[in-house]
Amino acid sequence: MTRLAQTADLTDIQQEILSTVRTFVDKEIIPHAQELEHADAYPTEIVDGLKELGIFGLMIPEEYGGLGESLLTYALVVEEIARGWMSVSGVINTHFIVAYMLLQHGTAEQRERLLPRMATGEVRGAFSMSEPGLGSDVAGIRTRAVEQADGDYVIDGQKMWLTNGGSSTLVAALVRTDEGAEKAHQNLTTFLVEKPAGFGEVVPGLTIPGKIDKMGYKGVDTTELVFDGFRIGADAILGGVPGKGFAQMMDGVEVGRVNVAARACGISIRAFELAIAYAQQRETFGKPIAQHQAIAFQLAEMATKVEAAHAMMVRAARLKDAGQRNDVEAGMAKLLASEYCAEVTTQSFRIHGGYGYSKEYEIERLMREAPFLLIGEGTSEIQKTIISRGLLKEYALKR
Ligand SMILES: Cc1cc2nc3c(=O)[nH]c(=O)nc-3n(C[C@H](O)[C@H](O)[C@H](O)COP(=O)(O)OP(=O)(O)OC[C@H]3O[C@@H](n4cnc5c(N)ncnc54)[C@H](O)[C@@H]3O)c2cc1C
Repeated sequence: MTRLAQTADLTDIQQEILSTVRTFVDKEIIPHAQELEHADAYPTEIVDGLKELGIFGLMIPEEYGGLGESLLTYALVVEEIARGWMSVSGVINTHFIVAYMLLQHGTAEQRERLLPRMATGEVRGAFSMSEPGLGSDVAGIRTRAVEQADGDYVIDGQKMWLTNGGSSTLVAALVRTDEGAEKAHQNLTTFLVEKPAGFGEVVPGLTIPGKIDKMGYKGVDTTELVFDGFRIGADAILGGVPGKGFAQMMDGVEVGRVNVAARACGISIRAFELAIAYAQQRETFGKPIAQHQAIAFQLAEMATKVEAAHAMMVRAARLKDAGQRNDVEAGMAKLLASEYCAEVTTQSFRIHGGYGYSKEYEIERLMREAPFLLIGEGTSEIQKTIISRGLLKEYALKR
């Protein structure tokens, strides 16, 4: 464990899992992350290693072949992995959200059929809300599923920004079904779309065009998804009842937000570790730069931000594990951790001087990864909307 971001009151099992993951990150991820990231290469061997460690089934209950661990354990594992390379945490995150949604909202048949294969990593999940024309405004989804005379549905439309879109074999896709409900968000349905991994027209009517070329977060595939007369059975509706998709997805992104906060903590910890090491080696004006007060104070600020973000992330996870609502706390954790992560990576970059701009130094990669956390699972503005809405409800004046 790092000295920073220690978590109190962990069980022996949690400590053992974290120590195993940390060793894996130090030996199998950090030494390869730069090369794989610069080549935009999929981390196949690392993913195979995670499968062996049981990480794909970390939160899936033991009755379905998983480890049955808590959201807190998951978040701390994500923090460790993101410290090594954020893209690897991206490989497991959408999988985890889809497994969580199945567990909470799936029918018995859907859970029994899919969860055991998700626990081993044989079935890999992606989730799809965003479209070319919208991300924050989920209720405005345009991709449409129309029920046919035989009870099947036909889906047409385009989805955007699917993390693991090509490598996944199960996409939880939110589409419009028009239930005749007054509110737009009550007319949305989640379909469990099973498909082979790969690109092109992978099944009739369903095309994954290719990888989106991104600024960072490389290695993991992010794709579009085009439905063109794609036929799917009503038994693929998550939970079996149409019109429930919005609430199901919001439940999924709520735990996803804890995950993004955890990722931000992991990147911040790494940025701090790199900075404090560099600051003791690099000399200017006859002494290590760590001995210039301006630099030492930067290190102090960075560590303080890491601790604050970590504490908030742990609190949000523990609330959910205790069965309590955590939308405000998850929003706060995501907001604070992602904003601090952008600041901490920038501070580390500046401490590295010119070398931070070289592709030989890890901080160059972290600088390109951190901005995504300000956007994914809801932008900072959307977090502030959620937080303020919750606060105004809690503190409403009685008139
Ligand atoms: C690398 C990557 C991976 C992703 N992976 C996935 C995935 O796996 N699945 C998925 O469904 N999506 C995914 N996304 C999409 C992501 O969730 C959206 O990009 C995000 O929700 C923002 O939506 P948008 O890009 O459409 O921005 P917009 O919603 O168009 O927002 C643009 C700007 O306006 C601001 N804004 C919007 N509405 C308001 C408001 N009411 N008040 C104040 N400000 C506002 C936003 O904060 C932002 O600054 C991914 C995105 C990226 C970049």
